[in-house]
Amino acid sequence: MDPLIEMDLSARKRTPEEVLQAVFGYSAFRGRQAEIIDWVVDGGDALVLMPTGGGKSLCYQIPALVRSGTALVISPLIALMQDQVEALRQSGVAAAYLNSTLHWGQVQNIENALREGLIDLLYVAPERVLTERTLALLDELPLALIAIDEAHCVSQWGHDFRPEYMQLAALAERFPGVPRLALTATADEPTQREIVSRLELADAKLFASSFDRPNIFYRVIPKASPREQLLRFIRAEHEGDAGIVYCLSRRKVEETAEWLERQGLSALPYHAGLNNQARAHNQERFLREEGIIMVATIAFGMGIDKSNVRFVAHLDLPKSLEAYYQETGRAGRDGLPASAWMAYGLQDVVTLRRMVDESEADTARKRVEYRKLEAMLGYCEITTCRRQSLLAYFGEALGQPCGHCDTCVEPVASWDGTQVAQKLLSCICRTGQRFGVAYVVDVLLGKDDERIRRNRHDRLSTFGIGTELDGKAWRGVVRQLVASGYISVDVDGYGSLRLTERCRAVLRGDETVTLRRDPARMPRAAKPRQRPSKDIAPHNEALWAALRECRRYFASEQGVAPYVIFHDTTLAQMAALRPDSHDALSRISGVGEKKLERYGDAFLALIREHEQGGG
Ligand code: ADP
Ligand code: ZN
Repeated sequence: MDPLIEMDLSARKRTPEEVLQAVFGYSAFRGRQAEIIDWVVDGGDALVLMPTGGGKSLCYQIPALVRSGTALVISPLIALMQDQVEALRQSGVAAAYLNSTLHWGQVQNIENALREGLIDLLYVAPERVLTERTLALLDELPLALIAIDEAHCVSQWGHDFRPEYMQLAALAERFPGVPRLALTATADEPTQREIVSRLELADAKLFASSFDRPNIFYRVIPKASPREQLLRFIRAEHEGDAGIVYCLSRRKVEETAEWLERQGLSALPYHAGLNNQARAHNQERFLREEGIIMVATIAFGMGIDKSNVRFVAHLDLPKSLEAYYQETGRAGRDGLPASAWMAYGLQDVVTLRRMVDESEADTARKRVEYRKLEAMLGYCEITTCRRQSLLAYFGEALGQPCGHCDTCVEPVASWDGTQVAQKLLSCICRTGQRFGVAYVVDVLLGKDDERIRRNRHDRLSTFGIGTELDGKAWRGVVRQLVASGYISVDVDGYGSLRLTERCRAVLRGDETVTLRRDPARMPRAAKPRQRPSKDIAPHNEALWAALRECRRYFASEQGVAPYVIFHDTTLAQMAALRPDSHDALSRISGVGEKKLERYGDAFLALIREHEQGGG
């Protein structure tokens, strides 16, 4: 064939749909992906708000392949970058990253490849992109687009603030005419406005998607014996699954991981106090092996795009709903059922309030943080659908209760707690606002106690007036009144309960108080609707296991995570549909041209073997 004609053919750019099918092996775009991609391919700027797992990456990866030149992707985390680049290479895409893990020779190789136009996607960390060396390199290249991932990092009020992001607007001036997209899973309005102004995206079209994560089941339980509660939850619903358990302190991380190990589970710790090597090692194992539970502080997680994390558990309350939503969002990115579970108690409220009080932040900042904490507490104590309240916080209305959260599945009884609240408040008042929960509750219950007698509190009118509730129920009432701001807990170290301005109306009888009835026992496990491992029909189980083994083999051979080879959903489809030819295999979601070529024969042979074995 005439070499010129051949060149012409290969130079023809494919359409977005063709790339989606041939490279990524997917049959259709999801949500607003097609719109966003068309817009960017045509040269428009975009602000993309999409929940975790929504499919943000394709929104710049496909335009990167359709437009000519190299796409620059700014991504804040090295681990994420490496994973994404690895996944792209598996699909046959020419992708590379420049970061501090590379040695000199590797950097030069990549720079040369870039100059020769051999690289379609280049991932760079924000601090590196702004160096004169990188900018000079980029000057030499035709740029297809600039994508700024995790764009909320530009927000000073946010929880992931990165100062380097503030300078990224410089790219607009340096590379005029190159379309830019900012992408994030943090949706609130102020953050959105900050992104637009700081990144100079005034002309960007906004693409907001629903933030609902329908596959996540949300549950919050009152904290009693948190570790045992966690263990029961894992055993009942997530035996053998990969998950993340968040704790506030390093010590608690260590202790919880050890304890879970002793119970026979595979758990690893992760926090900023471990040395880099230990952290990297544990993260590696979490990504590469199956069924590992990562017990971690919030130092862990951003940019972890392991798709089959089946649960995220909180043993301590997050500081805000933004943080909660982002952390729980790491569950179920593959769209299969997953759980967000949290144990929450009075001590959480006290600890977090104290952290805000004692922080160095100025008053304005503290006020913002208190407001965020209050929204978080409101979510914990809510008696209506959790998903509705979560989405409402992010400005989205969900018409119906979701039917897939604890309060929907097991409606929480609420009761008129006005009288009970009055008793509690006056008991706190009469004992001089100097005592903690345990003491106040003992007085209400009329307990025969040396200290109470010494203080002559057995003579108070509130002594023994609260026998209609037991100690546990009273502590639940205290927690709720603290959460809704009627009582404050002193940060003097004694945890004395104090009355706030707000409680006057209740004491006067002008305001009624509605309380939630905490369940007496641990709510029964939610029925997982279609767990991936449970979704495999019994006669396909042997094949499913063999396919996973095969995937593990290829993954460890190349030192990559198994899901980079094929997602669970792809293997599950193979087991169910048993394709018998390259053509049939290529129709399975997640099998693109390159993967078909690389792994097709091995997986087809396995399937054939199982057919013959009648398995
Ligand atoms: P995000 O970055 O928004 O959290 P990702 O881009 O990592 O989400 O996508 C989440 C998962 O969904 C990935 O496994 C991805 O391959 C898959 N995915 C994205 N778009 C599609 C699609 N159109 N069809 C099938 N799977 C998709
Ligand atoms: Zn609900």
